[in-house]
Amino acid sequence: MKSREFTPERLDILAFATDHGTLEGNVDLQTMLRLRAGFHAAATDPSTWPQGHWQATAELRPQTKGAPQVWLHLQAQTAVPLECQRCLQTVQEPLSVDRWFRFVATEAEAEQLDTDADEDILVISRTFDLLALIEDEWLLAQPLVPVHPDCELAFTGSDTFDDAANESEASQTPHPFAALAKMKLDTSR
Ligand SMILES: [Zn+2]
Repeated sequence: MKSREFTPERLDILAFATDHGTLEGNVDLQTMLRLRAGFHAAATDPSTWPQGHWQATAELRPQTKGAPQVWLHLQAQTAVPLECQRCLQTVQEPLSVDRWFRFVATEAEAEQLDTDADEDILVISRTFDLLALIEDEWLLAQPLVPVHPDCELAFTGSDTFDDAANESEASQTPHPFAALAKMKLDTSR
């Protein structure tokens, strides 16, 4: 059994798969500049940010014809402080990624396969940046509209909160289409 050292930021994918390698680690979200760019402006203290954790394994899958396929399994969990789109406070959104990737030799092959393959196709590299892939996947896993699952504003109709009052005022303003529907009703009378 060979024992090679693997570095997540500069991973030799083929060697990693050949060794049936496993890597895992923690990530400080401060180092993920693209991810933290989307954090809630009020979440300024990095010591309150959750840590990330990831694990990756790779394997070669023999084919009846041709070279074996190179597969990587990535699991990565964290949570990110985003802005709740309802109460505008910080909401910790958990992110969990569990995906398989298949590596092919060239960009052209990847483009050709990407449209019909179920799995994600990446181009093989001797210096693959696994942490950049983890960041990509976490960016994709983020909800489009972050909201507290139990956001106070979701079920308070009272004027306990100023924002809640504004919210109910806003919801009393007729929607343009509602106004249009009313007009249509009026003319049909
Ligand atoms: Zn909220």
